Amino acid sequence: MNKEKLREAGEIHREVMDEAVDMVEERASKLEVAETAEQRMRELGAEPAFPVNISVDEQAAHATPAADSDDTFGEDLVCVDIGVHVDGWIADSARTVDLGGHGDITAAAEEALDAAIELVEPGVSTAELGAAIEEAIDGYGLNPVTNLTGHGLGEYEQHAAPSIPNRAVDRGVELEEEMVIAIEPFATDGGGKVNEGGEEQIYSLEELGANVRSRRARELVRDLEDRYRTMPFAKRWLDADRVDMSLRRLKSQEVVHGYPVLKEKQGKLVAQAEHTVIVTSDGCEVTTT
Ligand code: MN
Ligand code: MN
Repeated sequence: MNKEKLREAGEIHREVMDEAVDMVEERASKLEVAETAEQRMRELGAEPAFPVNISVDEQAAHATPAADSDDTFGEDLVCVDIGVHVDGWIADSARTVDLGGHGDITAAAEEALDAAIELVEPGVSTAELGAAIEEAIDGYGLNPVTNLTGHGLGEYEQHAAPSIPNRAVDRGVELEEEMVIAIEPFATDGGGKVNEGGEEQIYSLEELGANVRSRRARELVRDLEDRYRTMPFAKRWLDADRVDMSLRRLKSQEVVHGYPVLKEKQGKLVAQAEHTVIVTSDGCEVTTT
């Protein structure tokens, strides 16, 4: 664990997030917000750990604008989820901007996050974090999204063990000093489950060193390995010929994984709050505040 680089990623994250959130307003372009944030990370000496996610209303995760998107914001509930890495050491954090007076959903997610962070120290179970998250959101008369979870973060690894549940569960994993975890409650006025929607703009390699026969696809895979390893990337980041066809083929060969947009099952609103924390001997250090 490289605490210095985690802290650097966190500092860059904060700056990028503040600027991104400032740009989120009615009639602003989603693509411009995402690309500006990604460019800003690079200017500050970091790289995106995943494409900037901009999810509105019933969208919960894995939404990022396409290269030709002319989508703009309306009176939306907007979740901005940003990942920054410095040499593989990741800061993952999300904020929700309410452009439409959507009530307490954002506050519920934020309060749940604070409640969980408050509990973090070695020996505490991830089940206790989940229970605190559920209780805080329940206090607003809302539901946590239970089939999305927080997660550990490893070097160049966006989703590592342990998973951090967003509800009370029977058995958890004990937190240990020096673990790096992202805690990310989602609050909704719907039933609390998301499923895969249609659009897919985000992908990652399943593993490094995959054997690919077609020359065009092989060149793309080697390039992806060099640039992103197994971390998620956006289709709009690629400029290879016939990207759609190559991605489709690589998906069917299980070389590439696709992440369709996740939406609240009943089409209800979703808000997200997230921070990355390092577990310390007597609590935790939040790298993204
Ligand atoms: Mn995130
Ligand atoms: Mn996360």
